[in-house]
Amino acid sequence: MRGWKPGILGKNPETVPNAWFRQAFRLLGRMRAVTVIGAGLAGPEAAWQVAAAGVAVRLYEMRPRRRTPAHQSDQFAELVCSNSLGSSLADRASGVLQAELEQLGSKLLELARACAVPAGQALAVDRTAFAAAVTQAVAGHPLIEVRREEVTTLPSEGVCVLASGPLTSEALAGAVARLAGTSNLSFFDAIAPVVSADSLDFTELYAASRYGHGEADYWNVPLDPERYRWLVAELLAAEKRAPAAFESADPRAARFFERCLPVEVLAARGAEALRFGPLRPVGLRDPRTGRRPYAVLQLRPENRARTLYNLVGFQTNLRHGEQERILRALPGFAAAEFVRLGSMHRNTFLRAPALLNATLEWRGRPGLFVAGQLTGMEGYLGNIGSGLLAGRNALRRALGAEPETLPRTTLLGALAAHVAEAPAATFQPMKAEFGLLPPLPDHAARARRNAVRAAHSASSLAEHLRLHPLPGAYAAV
Ligand SMILES: Cc1cc2nc3c(=O)[nH]c(=O)nc-3n(C[C@H](O)[C@H](O)[C@H](O)COP(=O)(O)OP(=O)(O)OC[C@H]3O[C@@H](n4cnc5c(N)ncnc54)[C@H](O)[C@@H]3O)c2cc1C
Repeated sequence: MRGWKPGILGKNPETVPNAWFRQAFRLLGRMRAVTVIGAGLAGPEAAWQVAAAGVAVRLYEMRPRRRTPAHQSDQFAELVCSNSLGSSLADRASGVLQAELEQLGSKLLELARACAVPAGQALAVDRTAFAAAVTQAVAGHPLIEVRREEVTTLPSEGVCVLASGPLTSEALAGAVARLAGTSNLSFFDAIAPVVSADSLDFTELYAASRYGHGEADYWNVPLDPERYRWLVAELLAAEKRAPAAFESADPRAARFFERCLPVEVLAARGAEALRFGPLRPVGLRDPRTGRRPYAVLQLRPENRARTLYNLVGFQTNLRHGEQERILRALPGFAAAEFVRLGSMHRNTFLRAPALLNATLEWRGRPGLFVAGQLTGMEGYLGNIGSGLLAGRNALRRALGAEPETLPRTTLLGALAAHVAEAPAATFQPMKAEFGLLPPLPDHAARARRNAVRAAHSASSLAEHLRLHPLPGAYAAV
């Protein structure tokens, strides 16, 4: 793809003092316009990154012409549920992610901080003020042209960031499914809890794969009859999350939930249902006793580094506090740290590991980037971050440069690597958590491990930005 020659046009048009030349630079920028689809959280950040570096953007947003079942306004960056972007503490995952976004020059983080409301150590925003500030800044940028239209097809060439979110319109979802393959696009998620390996007591578990087939990749949690019956009773009694009205009304919901039953629904179908379903012990003899336990909860590696384990088939809609309480009573789980708790939502997302690179570029379609919840990333901050990374890489492509991969010692880099490289067959959305980072070699630092990870993130990102500046002298960072 031919791009600008930053050596000749290495200027941010907005810094050119002469009005005539400024206009000429803007026109040249428009010749290389990047398309961004969706003005939720990821799209505006992507658009800003591109435009701030002097390349024009065409940003499409379908609201208010076509509404989603969750958004209430026609503003960009509408937070559809909680108004919190998570803890700002330096040793929390969301605090580290905020620091990374700041280092990378995130516009939405800057505006979120300007619209913050008192929330202790968390960054919570006045959602109306935040959405208005993002809309004003992005729509007011001279290099961003906003089109209030529903996009129904994907551009076959050029540079594009697809950020149409968990409620992507049906027509566009159809176009995405045609490119991805229908089996690679989901409309609901079925999330089972994920636990960090270093919080488990493996002496209470045993390694085995069913019938001894292949490597003993799974860790197994043995349940005796008493513990199994207790678990069933607790699942039945625990408080559940009610689906939103628009989720229950979706005709695909019933089919999905029947195919992918939450454990509490299965437990209600009979005392033995879980033991003949996801907790079946057949072929899982415990080498320590030589016997097959009454029931078994299997743990499967969630990432290549095996720092995280997924509770196989344990998708659930129980309230998060209830999940933690019940699971911590299982063998080996007393100190379990969950990097993700179970949930089942309406959520359009790609089977990203089969489709995307860690640069968030579609494999085999240079110039098409995906950002936001569609990638399988979760969380407001992660979605802003994905927009930032996709925006930086769209800019690189527009300027004829290769996309960048962020260091895996950063949470954003680790999350992008996760969505590109997690096991594809069982892929489910994930948010930025410390468990995604490479294991720390120094176990003596256990008590301070999050502070160490935060320091690694900051130093590796600073080094990355030094070694990989954005092309063009006008780049924002
Ligand atoms: C009901 C609900 C509650 C949620 N609660 C939380 C929460 O509390 N915390 C949290 O972290 N996350 C929550 N999420 C996830 C949340 O949506 C994301 O974290 C975040 O908004 C995703 O950002 P995004 O940019 O990918 O998508 P969005 O913010 O949804 O933005 C996508 C944009 O694309 C537009 N669009 C869609 N299709 C088209 C089209 N064809 N043409 C043009 N424009 C289009 C949409 O109108 C929308 O403005 C929730 C999601 C839902 C659905």
